[in-house]
Amino acid sequence: MIHSLVEVAYLAAIVLFILALYWMNDPKSARRSVSAGVAAMALAIAATWSRPEVVHHAWIIIALLGGVVVGVPLSRVALTAVPQRTALSHAFGGLAAGLVGTAKYYMWLGEDPSELTGFRMTAIVVETLLGFLTLTGSLMAAGKLHGVSWIPQRPVIYPMQNFSNLGLLLTALAIGIFLIVNPTGSVLAFPALIVLSLAFGVLLIIPIGGADMPTVISILNAYAGLSAVAMGFVLDSRLLVVAGALDGASGLILSIIMCRAMNRSFTNVLFGGFGQVQEVAAAGGEDRHYKEETIEGAAQTLEMARFVIIVPGYGMAVAHAQHRVSELYDQLTARGTTVKFVIHPVAGRMPGHMNVLLAEAEIPYDDIVEMDDMNPDMGQVDVALIIGANDVVNPAAKEKKGCPIYGMPIIEAHRAKTVFAIKRGKSTGFAGIENDLYFRDETFMLFGDAKDVVGELTKQLAVDAAA
Ligand code: NAP
Repeated sequence: MIHSLVEVAYLAAIVLFILALYWMNDPKSARRSVSAGVAAMALAIAATWSRPEVVHHAWIIIALLGGVVVGVPLSRVALTAVPQRTALSHAFGGLAAGLVGTAKYYMWLGEDPSELTGFRMTAIVVETLLGFLTLTGSLMAAGKLHGVSWIPQRPVIYPMQNFSNLGLLLTALAIGIFLIVNPTGSVLAFPALIVLSLAFGVLLIIPIGGADMPTVISILNAYAGLSAVAMGFVLDSRLLVVAGALDGASGLILSIIMCRAMNRSFTNVLFGGFGQVQEVAAAGGEDRHYKEETIEGAAQTLEMARFVIIVPGYGMAVAHAQHRVSELYDQLTARGTTVKFVIHPVAGRMPGHMNVLLAEAEIPYDDIVEMDDMNPDMGQVDVALIIGANDVVNPAAKEKKGCPIYGMPIIEAHRAKTVFAIKRGKSTGFAGIENDLYFRDETFMLFGDAKDVVGELTKQLAVDAAA
């Protein structure tokens, strides 16, 4: 009876996991999606705990308390730190998979080596390899994104790098095959598999520069999911197989979408070989000058515009300017101006970063458009207002061969009739290169913190409307 109930609970959890992913497709149902995911996980834990063969309850309570102690502070990090937090979550997933694979191998080895069938050994090898490489790879990615001082932020490149990485991976695979064929053949084989997997995770990440890190994090998500699938086979848990497959597949799809968004080769990401960006073709700005505009002047231009696009970027998040931006949107639309928010897939510091902030500020979803849908109509835009965005509107991505973002699709704000760019000073964006857009004839800078400048603009529009 209890087993049937557990199976029904697992089925319900699987359905909830699938619904959670499906609802994540649309910002309107995203909150429901999170609730469904939490409910699915709670159901899965409760059902597993209630199985009669689970007798060591103290260990489960200790694990739950450990999860709470680590998880609650992690859930409170600033939105800008979510990418590294996500990478840490993948690291924990990888660690769990790697430890389960190791425990199961040594358990069966000690109790009855005949249990280490070819199928089980294949699952254990895949789980251990992917689990441990996800652990170190994710820790490196989190450290790079968080700016940990002893982890180099720039890509670390050395001769024959791809060749030696591939050699390491092939050695790990050869040891894995040896273990599958002959699980008891050598006491050194399994520890060697663990060490090589841990080393491969580090080597996979060090050649990758910051601008490519989002794609790497989503590929690590896929690796964590695949290791969970293997863990499901090892533990004979259909729920884990399905949940891991959903996780792995969604990570893989997100990686492909992001590779397209950044014009990166997916195969290179898979093998960690796409850090070989040319050195920055940044300079050339010494004799170039920014043109500045006053708040009054910018407000006047906005008042005359029929079609305005707003391009939010990382700076809007840093300034917590989304609510002020929403007030500006209200002012403009009240005048009959068409206003659209154009979102680049990698704007900010995590996929969907801008969408989350705009949803929080209650911007209508219908006025949020994607880069690919807007670019063809860019010539009709009267004003493009760039709020704390830099790399995602940098024409160098189209024009400067050899620069780190060359080939990345951009929001073509430079084709709008007038561009206003809000930023605090002359710093570069995440990729560390100067933005040609800021020096073009049609561009005027509004220097200052995004929250202050947008607030002043809104006030000026209100004053003008009242006059
Ligand atoms: P960005 O290139 O990082 O540029 C942000 C700009 O905002 C900077 O030029 C900065 O200039 C300005 N800024 C910072 N604080 C500000 C404030 N308080 N008020 C006004 N401006 C402020 O941002 P982006 O255009 O959104 O591009 C995202 C970049 O991050 C891409 O290179 C992407 O590959 C990378 N990335 C994305 C993800 C992801 O998943 N979305 C994850 C990791 C990395 P000042 O300092 O002069 O103000």
